[in-house]
Amino acid sequence: MTKFNMLSIAKKLLLKIIPCVAVVFFSATVFAGMISLEKEIELGRKTGEQLEAQYGVVADKALQKRVDRIGQRLARVCGRDEIKFSFKVLNSKEINALACPGGFVYVFKGLIDYMPSDTELAGVLGHEVGHVAKKHTVHSIEKNMWSSLGAILVGVASGSMEGMQAAMVGMTALQSGFSRTDERGADKEGVNNTVAAGFNPYAMLITAHKLEDLQAEQQTPNYGLFNSHPEPEERIKRVLSQIAKLKVTPNVIENNERSVTVQDGKWTHDINIGIGNTKPLYRGYMLAGSMWVIKRQTGGVINPSGFYVVENGSRATIYYGDTEVYTCYNADGRGAGIYARELTTKLRNWANLVNSGAISTPLPDEDKKSKKKDKKKK
Ligand SMILES: [Zn+2]
Repeated sequence: MTKFNMLSIAKKLLLKIIPCVAVVFFSATVFAGMISLEKEIELGRKTGEQLEAQYGVVADKALQKRVDRIGQRLARVCGRDEIKFSFKVLNSKEINALACPGGFVYVFKGLIDYMPSDTELAGVLGHEVGHVAKKHTVHSIEKNMWSSLGAILVGVASGSMEGMQAAMVGMTALQSGFSRTDERGADKEGVNNTVAAGFNPYAMLITAHKLEDLQAEQQTPNYGLFNSHPEPEERIKRVLSQIAKLKVTPNVIENNERSVTVQDGKWTHDINIGIGNTKPLYRGYMLAGSMWVIKRQTGGVINPSGFYVVENGSRATIYYGDTEVYTCYNADGRGAGIYARELTTKLRNWANLVNSGAISTPLPDEDKKSKKKDKKKK
């Protein structure tokens, strides 16, 4: 569905509702904090029902489960324990994701095709969870209560809202999107959420890069993921500087557009092949970021035999415990499975180097602080 379709539905609903209500004018400040938690959840649920009715929910139960599992990990660390998040895949080829108030988060099937890894999905969902955590939609509705929707919104606040009205208010808010400030806030939360939930710290960066590629090569929808998001270049710079504070190693060295070296001490791995829309640079981030996650989770004592390969047709993914480390493809040469097992051997060597102290394991300042606290407790 295009923005135009969504707007025309909103207009139709508006025409039905406006005649029966008096338009009331209030100043924006009157409404600050007026939408209760209960109303927020109702707004989100009704908006979600509307989205589900329009697009349909993808029937693939394994996919829905996977997206929900990733989403729930992020929801647990986002700081809004009072709401129950849900994550669903909508049946649309569009590359997009939407966060309704109250924790009803949706990704479009097209996005999963474009960003197939758990890491990338975590990046997108981390950002959307960030919008919900910071109540961006709720605040924007409260701020806009003086507008032509005022009368309906009084209903939202006072509790006399009907389902259709709630859906319309929610849809209109989704359409009008977030401010740049809110988008920057959601990016920041996205990085924080992915790191806190134990995902690849580059997750948000990879998705920001891919969205930039997409915007450069084709027309994109101008709502949801693409609505008023900061300029891609500025966005990537900002996310990168946030990640820099984490002191992520291995390093990702961009030799040129088609060649990246992942380097940790004397250990190196070259990536010279892009897969579809996944450039060598993004694959470098995937590998280096997951290696950092492993160092951080194990405190630098890695079990070399903890790495294993799961083959799936033309690709083979290396895991360490639940952590998705890297996906190899037939295009990498010698068959995905063979290539993945070779890389696994290299990763075991890397683990031995880390364990022996030959590779340093700098951790972010936050980790050091919490370690000190643990020592004090003892
Ligand atoms: Zn956003």
